[in-house]
Amino acid sequence: MPGFTPGRRWQPPFMPFKRLPFKKRVFAKIELAVKGPLFGCRMCGNCLLQETALICPMECPKGLRNGPCGGSTPEKCYVDESRPCIWYKIYERSFKLGREAILLEVLPPMDWDKAGTDAWSDVFSQAKKIGAAAIVTGLAGREAGSASKTLDSIFRPVRQPDWWQGDSLYHAPKYTQPVSELEDSLKKGRFAVTTEIAPPLSVNTEKLKQTIELIKPYVTAINFMDSPSAIPRMSSWACSKLALESGADPVMQIAARDRTRVGLQSEVMGAAALGIRNLLCLTGDSMILGPGPRGRMDIVDLDGIQMLWILRRMRDEGKYLDGREIKVPPQYFLGAAASPFASNMKFQALREQKKVHAGAQFFQTNVVFDADALDEWLNEIAKRDILDKVYIVVGITPLKSYRTAAYMNNRIPGVFVPEKILTRMETAKEKGGEQEEGLQICLELIEKIKSKHGVHGIHLMAVNWEEIVPRIVTESGLTR
Ligand code: SF4
Repeated sequence: MPGFTPGRRWQPPFMPFKRLPFKKRVFAKIELAVKGPLFGCRMCGNCLLQETALICPMECPKGLRNGPCGGSTPEKCYVDESRPCIWYKIYERSFKLGREAILLEVLPPMDWDKAGTDAWSDVFSQAKKIGAAAIVTGLAGREAGSASKTLDSIFRPVRQPDWWQGDSLYHAPKYTQPVSELEDSLKKGRFAVTTEIAPPLSVNTEKLKQTIELIKPYVTAINFMDSPSAIPRMSSWACSKLALESGADPVMQIAARDRTRVGLQSEVMGAAALGIRNLLCLTGDSMILGPGPRGRMDIVDLDGIQMLWILRRMRDEGKYLDGREIKVPPQYFLGAAASPFASNMKFQALREQKKVHAGAQFFQTNVVFDADALDEWLNEIAKRDILDKVYIVVGITPLKSYRTAAYMNNRIPGVFVPEKILTRMETAKEKGGEQEEGLQICLELIEKIKSKHGVHGIHLMAVNWEEIVPRIVTESGLTR
C-alpha cells in the first residue's frame, strides 16, 4: 500500500460558525486548498491526520473520530454502500506502518468553535511555545524515539485539550462495592443471563410490564433498547424505571446518535438519581436505517467511546465535561457493545481494548452463530490484555425462521450466519418446524459457549419472541 492515497471529500467542508478575522479566513482558505485535494479535508478544525495514518476520518459518514462502528466491513460502509469504510483503511494502514498503538488514544469530540477554521494555527502556536531550537534538537536527536517524542510534544496538546485529557491507558473503576445486581453477580463469578426488550411503540405499558414479569425470574438483568434501527420508541430510561419498580435489574441502553454532550450528561444524572445502575453505551444505528424524513446522517456530537470516557470521569473523578465539580457523583456500571465478526478480528480487538480503557466494564456482543470463530476473537482480546478487565456476555439469538437467518446474514452489519445453520433452517422450513430448529441451534450454541474461558454470560436477543426466554434458560440449565 502506498504511504499516501489522495482522499475524496464526500460531504462539503464545514463553514465557520461566526465571521472570522481576515487573517484567519486567509489561513483557512490556504489550508482547504492544500488539504482538500490531498486528504479530502472537510475543515473540521480539529485535525487528527497525525493519529489516523494520514487518512482523514471525517470521510466516515457517521463522523466517528475513535474508530469504526460495529457495522464495519472491509468492502463498504453500511451507511453509504458507494464508499469504503474509511476506518477499515485507517486501521489497515496503521497496522502496516506499525503505528496501531496510537489508535488506542481516546480522542475528544469536536470543538465546534473550531469547525471551518484552520487547524494549522494551533500547531504553530504549540510549536512556538516549545521553541524552534528545542524542536530542531529533538528532531535531529540521536536517542531512540527523540524525533517522535518531539512531534508528540507538538501534536498531543493540540489533539488533547485540557477539558478532555484523553490517553491510551487503562483506568480501573474507583469504587469497590457492586452498584447493581448484574455487577454483583458477575463479580461473584456467577454465569449471567441477560436479555433485551424493545420498548413499546405507544404509551401503553401493559405488554411491557407483563413481559418483564414473565422473564424477570430467569435473567440477571434486562436491557431496554434505545430506538433500535433509528425508529423512535418509548425511551429506554422510562422502561428501565418501570423495570426497577417491578423488581428487575435494568440495563439502560444509550445511543450516542441521539445525544448531545449536554443531553447525555443530564440524562445519566437523572437515570442514576432514579436508581438505574447499568448503562450500555452505544454509538447507535445510523439514521439511514430508520424511516424518513431523516435527520442529519453525517454528524454525531459524540461516539460510544467518547460517551464511556465522559461517564467514567463523571463517576470516578466527579467532573462534568466542562470541568465543573459534581458534588454527589452518579454511580453506574458501564457497558459497551462488542462486535466479534465485524471486519477484521485484530482490528475489532483493538477497538474493544480502547473501549475498556475508556471505561467499559462489561461487553454485550453482537449476535454470535459460530462458537469456534468466537475463540479467535477471544484470543485476540486476550492478546490485548483485557480479558481480566472486562466481563464478556455473548449475544445469542433464537432464530424464528429461515427468512430471519438469511436477513440477518445479508443485511445486519457485523452479523455472520454460517452456511451450516442457514441450511439447517432452510431444511426445517421445507419440513415445517423452523422455530423448533432455531431453538435447538440456540441451545447447542449456549452449550458450546458457556464454558469458554473469558465468557461470563449470555445475552439472549429474542426481541418480539420474549416468551421463549424462560424455555431457553431452563433447557440450557442456566436457571438462577
Ligand atoms: S481531520 Fe479535520 S482538519 Fe484533518 S484532514 Fe480531516 S477534516 Fe481536515
